Amino acid sequence: MNTITKEISLQERDKAVNWHPYTQMKTADDAIPIVKGKGIYLYDTEGKKYLDVVSSWWVTLHGHSHPYIAQRVFEQLNTLEQVIFAGFTHEPAVQFSENLLKLLPDSQEKVFYSDNGSTAVEVALKMCIQYAYNKEKKKTKILAFKNAYHGDTFGAMSVSGKSFWTKPFESMLFEVVFIDTPNAENLENLQQQIKELAGEVACFIYEPLVQGAAGMLMYKAEDLSQLMNFCREEGILMIQDEVFTGFGRTGKLFAADYLTEKPDIMCFSKGLTGGTMPMGITTCSNDIYDAFLSEDRYKTLFHGHSFTANPLACTAALASMELLLTNETQMNINRITHQHSEFVKALALHPRVEKVRQIGTILAFDFKTGNGTSYFNEIGKKLYNEFLQRGIIMRPLGNVIYLVPPYCITSEELDFVYQNIIEILDTFRD
Ligand SMILES: *Cc1c(COP(=O)(O)O)cnc(C)c1O
Repeated sequence: MNTITKEISLQERDKAVNWHPYTQMKTADDAIPIVKGKGIYLYDTEGKKYLDVVSSWWVTLHGHSHPYIAQRVFEQLNTLEQVIFAGFTHEPAVQFSENLLKLLPDSQEKVFYSDNGSTAVEVALKMCIQYAYNKEKKKTKILAFKNAYHGDTFGAMSVSGKSFWTKPFESMLFEVVFIDTPNAENLENLQQQIKELAGEVACFIYEPLVQGAAGMLMYKAEDLSQLMNFCREEGILMIQDEVFTGFGRTGKLFAADYLTEKPDIMCFSKGLTGGTMPMGITTCSNDIYDAFLSEDRYKTLFHGHSFTANPLACTAALASMELLLTNETQMNINRITHQHSEFVKALALHPRVEKVRQIGTILAFDFKTGNGTSYFNEIGKKLYNEFLQRGIIMRPLGNVIYLVPPYCITSEELDFVYQNIIEILDTFRD
């Protein structure tokens, strides 16, 4: 046996074979090798622990490797791991659809399963375009918000705001009319725009209350309700993308719970399974569902994925939902919301901080750079490394620092994060 063979680290092996998401592989630091997750913490090969205050890209609700979800998925794995969902069904899918629909606005009556947030959006867009097609109406335009983010597949990119993310594909994206997010001043103007376009527009897609990937930009529920009301009056279908805002993030179960108007379609993923398994859901009204019922086979929604309604993912969603609805989790969400709002007061006074914003468990602010916007990305990376050194995972979006913690984070852990934010703000050199 050759005892002098150098052990190759996980990082080196990773670099040799893996291509990471949203990563410039030429300049990126080596990926941190994680071997274990427990509650709010992730542990690397050296035993160093990291406080995951971004819920691993906004998905983890109850902490990592939650024993209850693990137990339920394990039992399901030994019972039925997968079955084709065309022509077949199973208890976890039926049970989860029943449970979810009870919690959504009563406009939501049917559930379509897919694999992630982007596919949930694709399904929603196809439902709206084919709704018009099946009714023999020529409506192919789509309304969306500037700065929107709805995913990375082609349809989802088309309805996302134009940026350097979508630039290489711009000529291949379909026609979308982008409007401003609503505020007290521009509502009348938005109403006018919607009136003029109404005849050609199939649907309006939006992230309710928070535009996450754009930098946690927030706008008011009453203004969105107004805008939704204009769409309703003009017969424009509404797709509410709750992929990020769903399952307690905003302090209520869904952003829908802040609104007086009801959407026609809703999209879910991220927190849907508590962050344990990939799954997406598109729900819709019976009005939409009924437009696909026909003796004519061409009116079928010809869409599906190999793993549609995977029983393990549905079971994870069932278990996560049970945990979410417990008093304990609801109290945790309220506690985080309250603690955030206290911190917001102190934070707002800091000279390097502007535009502090919060809804529920989501807290964000802009880091004042004094430099031009071209520095934002550099600053984001520097801040990311500063936090990482202190054992905190934060992924600033440019110069926007935000917290989206799992609900199991304790008051002490939150205070630890707040304290580190202040220290970094106090000592940061551009
Ligand atoms: C993350 C996100 C998506 C895309 O979800 P993926 O699972 O990453 O494809 C869609 N919409 C919103 C609002 C999101 O935040």
